[in-house]
Amino acid sequence: MGTHISSLMNNTFSGKMPRGVFATLMRKDPQSGECSVANLARGERAQRRTDSRRPIHRAFWHDGINPRREPEMTSTRPAANADGMRRHNLAAVLEIIHRRRQLSRTEITRASGLSRSSIKGLVAELETLGLCFESEPLANNRSGRPSPMVQPRPDVLSVAVMRDANGITVALATLGAKIVWRRAVPLPRNVSARDTADIVATTIAEARQELPAGAVLVGIGVATPGFVTGDNHEFVSASSLGWDAEPFARYLTEATGIPAETRYDGHLGVLAESIWGAGLDRKNVVYFYGGPGGIGTAVLVGGHLLTGNTGIAASFAHATVRPGGGRCWCGARGCFQVEVTQYDILQALGEIGALPELPPEAAEDRSPRTVYAPPHDDDPVLPEPPQSPHERLESYLSRTGAALRAAVIAYDPELILFDGFFSHLLAYDPDALASYCVISSFDSMRQRVELGTPALGPDLLLLGAADLGFRRLLADPLGVIGGQPAGTDTTANPVTPHTPANPTAPAAEPR
Ligand SMILES: [Zn+2]
Repeated sequence: MGTHISSLMNNTFSGKMPRGVFATLMRKDPQSGECSVANLARGERAQRRTDSRRPIHRAFWHDGINPRREPEMTSTRPAANADGMRRHNLAAVLEIIHRRRQLSRTEITRASGLSRSSIKGLVAELETLGLCFESEPLANNRSGRPSPMVQPRPDVLSVAVMRDANGITVALATLGAKIVWRRAVPLPRNVSARDTADIVATTIAEARQELPAGAVLVGIGVATPGFVTGDNHEFVSASSLGWDAEPFARYLTEATGIPAETRYDGHLGVLAESIWGAGLDRKNVVYFYGGPGGIGTAVLVGGHLLTGNTGIAASFAHATVRPGGGRCWCGARGCFQVEVTQYDILQALGEIGALPELPPEAAEDRSPRTVYAPPHDDDPVLPEPPQSPHERLESYLSRTGAALRAAVIAYDPELILFDGFFSHLLAYDPDALASYCVISSFDSMRQRVELGTPALGPDLLLLGAADLGFRRLLADPLGVIGGQPAGTDTTANPVTPHTPANPTAPAAEPR
């Protein structure tokens, strides 16, 4: 038996056999309890009979950006049997529903590559689990038999938490990241991670009061500034909050009883934009965010989020844009986030009347040097900045341009998204910023990079956090909501849905 399996595995891994056949093979013969060559033939026949056991290839996502590709978000358990493949396909169909928010069963069939009957069964199972529901076909469906519409249930929710220098925002979102409840809690910067977790827990408890019976909160996703490190992204270090390697997600889980995960907010922003926003169908995206606590940057290359060895890849906040400039908390001088601040940019734009209405973030943050560290004794005294607001803006543009140029050379993006105060800088002088993206004198190279702002607007990071809160569920719906950890005998445990009576009733008042 050992010989058979190892040779089959070799065949599988050398690409001679489709993975689905291998997975079928790995089921023992119920009579003999062995895997055999005869079983191989039976496996192939079974494979031809139905594709319900065929795993959906994850590469079908046309945008190529599947956050579940991240090792920590992907089930490492191979689809080693039919049950494993069914779970895998359930997860893949739920992912499609999450990404498209509402679509017909025919469209799911097309996106998955499985047969209509398989999709019908998988959608029915997700419906039984209380994760989605079908409704009447849309009247303007194309010709042919009308196909029922499938959408996420409004009472399966994730908690999105966003911490920035002004406070904390807690929101509840459905699959598809539709926000149905939110509250902003202003907080000073120096609140400890443990106290912040308690405040979030209190806010979630208040939110629960407004939810209908039967609503479930499946996970908490946290978007945080600074660095998120550790094998499971468990430690948050953010100078703007005074946090150093704080296991914030663990504090949250302890305070709420809900599984929680943290990620660097820039990463969540660019992923959300790639799923539902301007980054759809784009595989090479650079994202620049500027807020009251500093600068966040993130990069997708070939559809993959760059994280690096410790999670800080592509952190342009600490790129040197002015040698010998202001002292950064990181110890270096002239870092991007020290030399280009929200306060300075909004001040200058306000002085020239470029901001018809001062954005709320300008009023909320009046501290001019939030990201500066105290100078060392031997630091030279820096010259006073120019008085003219236009001259100051010119210098902010050129410093931004230095980081931008480095990003274009390193990552060759097709789209650069400017968020937060960078969107104001882009509106002030798009040509100047575009000029820093030109690396070649050839005209054919000039139009290769598109500059824009996120389509998801100010909710971008919150939607990314909501998506993160759903990742456990999306990886294994049956395990998370059906109470069937992978590897259990599903035939012995009938699915117990959480389903309340009326799937079309909203979970809470949409905003
Ligand atoms: Zn720095």
